[in-house]
Amino acid sequence: MTTLQDCRALDAQDPLRKLRDLFTIPPGVIYLDGNSLGVMPAAAPARVAAAVTQEWGEGLIRSWNSAGWFGLPQKLGNKIASLIGARPGEVVATDSTSVNLYKVLSAALNIAAQDAPQRRVIVSERSNFPTDLYIAQALCRERGYQLQLIEPEEINTALTPDVAVLMLTHVNYRTGAMHDMGAVTAAAHAAGALMVWDLAHSAGAVPVDLHGAGADFAVGCGYKYLNGGPGAPAFVWVHPRHAERFWQPLAGWWGHAAPFEFTPEYRPAPGVARYLCGTQPILSLTALECGLDTLLAAQPLGGMAALRQKSLALTDLFIALVEERCAGHGLTLVTPRPHAQRGSQASLSCQSGAYAIVQALIARNVIGDFRAGDPSTSSGRAGSPDILRFGFTPLYIGFEEVWRAVEHLKQVLESAEWQRPEFNQKQAVT
Ligand SMILES: *Cc1c(COP(=O)(O)O)cnc(C)c1O
Repeated sequence: MTTLQDCRALDAQDPLRKLRDLFTIPPGVIYLDGNSLGVMPAAAPARVAAAVTQEWGEGLIRSWNSAGWFGLPQKLGNKIASLIGARPGEVVATDSTSVNLYKVLSAALNIAAQDAPQRRVIVSERSNFPTDLYIAQALCRERGYQLQLIEPEEINTALTPDVAVLMLTHVNYRTGAMHDMGAVTAAAHAAGALMVWDLAHSAGAVPVDLHGAGADFAVGCGYKYLNGGPGAPAFVWVHPRHAERFWQPLAGWWGHAAPFEFTPEYRPAPGVARYLCGTQPILSLTALECGLDTLLAAQPLGGMAALRQKSLALTDLFIALVEERCAGHGLTLVTPRPHAQRGSQASLSCQSGAYAIVQALIARNVIGDFRAGDPSTSSGRAGSPDILRFGFTPLYIGFEEVWRAVEHLKQVLESAEWQRPEFNQKQAVT
């Protein structure tokens, strides 16, 4: 059995340990929710304050040029590109994940309509993050397409000659299950469909190789593992073979080839820049850059490959300790055990009280989160259970914290503390 002393030794030997100093973490907090909102980079307050007081306060409108505001979507896009197997100039940081998905899905449908107009179906997973499904539903209503929802093991059989686009999230937000991006993309292409990936739980969490996989489109989130702050801009990647084939649907002036010519006719910018729409949230982009810089600081230490190795060591330890020390309390691992099949989180299902257990842990400064199950049945299966979700950001989580988090979980379960009424009141954000 791994002891607290063993965990301290692992931290002492960890070459990534010093990266924790790049963050401001409240003392005593064990933060296992970086998959939902990343921790604040220590550089962010001063950097954002300088953007407010100097760039905005003194530079005023000159800062669009002098402070480089105008080029921030591309500058940050290039930093993100280095984390996801994209090339410089192929990514922009902008808008939200939902809005970016609307843009790329719309472009993908335009391409499909031209190349294979008989294909009228978008396939996705029933357990995808709902906003992705809602955006697809909106596009289907607009254009008379059909959204077909499947279970992960049904992908190959679902790829019929009717399918225009396969739209998947690489790492599932509830279970942490990860698709084989290369194999799934190849299957989609072999079946004549385009592949759209959502990297919300992958970018900054696991190595991603969009070019290696030959993917067509990708979007992802700025405030999760990229540590960009609440509501941080998201990102969008389009393979160069598609980038200039169609307009994106939100053809605003920031995506114009020459916005400051103010011509009445839209002329799309070359490459991915046409995926910009309107004026960007500069203060939010400034904070996002601080988050991206924490990941780039890991590059001399082995980058995403080293972070991945540590993330797997942390989640392996968490799973082993929960199974050893919390046995007999009805917890079951929902996340797949094989390394190649999971992201940087561990999810546990629980016979009862999942929400209250998470609340009791939060009261002890161990912050994870709860995701409600889906009581409906799909494909004849039982509905999915309530989940306790723990995200592990290897930039700032250490092995001793994993040990302590499991110790708190054990105490919460053994003392039945979670049954207290205050832990059973649901709040608006869970
Ligand atoms: C977090 C997440 C989003 C978030 O979308 P927003 O538009 O930023 O609210 C979208 N899709 C997936 C798969 C996510 O995990």
